[in-house]
Amino acid sequence: MLPYGRQDITQSDIDAAVEVLKSDYLTQGPMVPRFEELVSQHVGAKHALAVNSATSALHVACLALDLGPGDWLWTSPVTFVASANCGLYCGAQVDFVDIDPRTYNISISALQQKLQKAALEGKLPKVLVAVHLCGQPCDMVAIDSLAKLYSFKVIEDASHAIGGKFLNEFIGNCRYSDITVFSFHPVKIITTAEGGMALTNCNELAARIALLRSHGITRDSAQMTHAPDGPWYYQQIDLGFNYRMTDLQAALGVSQMARLDSYVARRHFLANRYDALLSGFPLKTPWRHPDGYSGMHLYVIRLELDRIRVSHRSVVDGLRERNIGVNVHYIPVHTQPFYQRKGFSVGDFPEAEAYYAEAISLPMFQTMSEAQQDEVVDAFRYVLKA
Ligand SMILES: *Cc1c(COP(=O)(O)O)cnc(C)c1O
Repeated sequence: MLPYGRQDITQSDIDAAVEVLKSDYLTQGPMVPRFEELVSQHVGAKHALAVNSATSALHVACLALDLGPGDWLWTSPVTFVASANCGLYCGAQVDFVDIDPRTYNISISALQQKLQKAALEGKLPKVLVAVHLCGQPCDMVAIDSLAKLYSFKVIEDASHAIGGKFLNEFIGNCRYSDITVFSFHPVKIITTAEGGMALTNCNELAARIALLRSHGITRDSAQMTHAPDGPWYYQQIDLGFNYRMTDLQAALGVSQMARLDSYVARRHFLANRYDALLSGFPLKTPWRHPDGYSGMHLYVIRLELDRIRVSHRSVVDGLRERNIGVNVHYIPVHTQPFYQRKGFSVGDFPEAEAYYAEAISLPMFQTMSEAQQDEVVDAFRYVLKA
């Protein structure tokens, strides 16, 4: 089956990992800081903190921003569950803002309206997680001005968007946010097997995240309550976790970073080619906002169900029967049983639900050939005609 996403592991990636295996440090060695420096320089952020997943990065990002009981975190319902769960990990409450039917990102007008209402009720969010769905950046200028107006913090969930740009600057530079998070899961744009990263320009937030990813333990005497007892000494000054990335993972990340820009360029080439090959099909190809250069993690089409005789489900099944591993990103988070138990109902976010009823993620990965892409289009033509 042709997958919807797939990692690219080269001999130089393998050599980089083997070199770590033969070295003195499998973890907490030199590769993690090297990877962090490489990413922070590439995207233009002051600090980069590598962790073991984007989920962990979101968790420590929320904690660093002092999200806790009595606070609200808002995000988009069309995202992976981790974008919302991070708020609940901190004891905060989670709410959603419906999507823009054109970009599938959080709707700025819905956000504005919800903020106005929340201000009157005294229920403004402390943190907004802005998800760059499929790699297309949210309107960060608008989000930033609302953040200033209503005093909330912004985390960019850029799990889909490393290598992408907003207003000609790399996503991750945190110009319009407090913290940006990347994922290095194998289906994402570059991979460390599992892995994530939090980026920030704020020294205090960086120090807090560094502490939280490793048990809340410091070896920096300036942070201690008294002078160290000796060279073995450390102090636990906060309650943290073991969210560290290993040197093996970081070596893979360093090696993959060399190909990041060419990966994203290849994804754009394939996306443009899909756009052309699918024109005339009863579906909507992804709209690209002129302010953004997408990381192009996903290529999502929306079926025009009133123009075809078959259902969304049967199109997905038909493509899979023809070995095209399509998927659907995402099941709106508020419709998950866990969130329904928290009081959300089907119908709460109609644009998100309308999107879910029509969306299909087509195979999109850097090593995909044009012949494979032609197979996807041929299968689609067959299934839609049926
Ligand atoms: C993949 C993903 C995550 C979680 O990433 P992990 O590294 O697997 O923890 C979070 N948010 C979004 C939008 C994602 O796609």
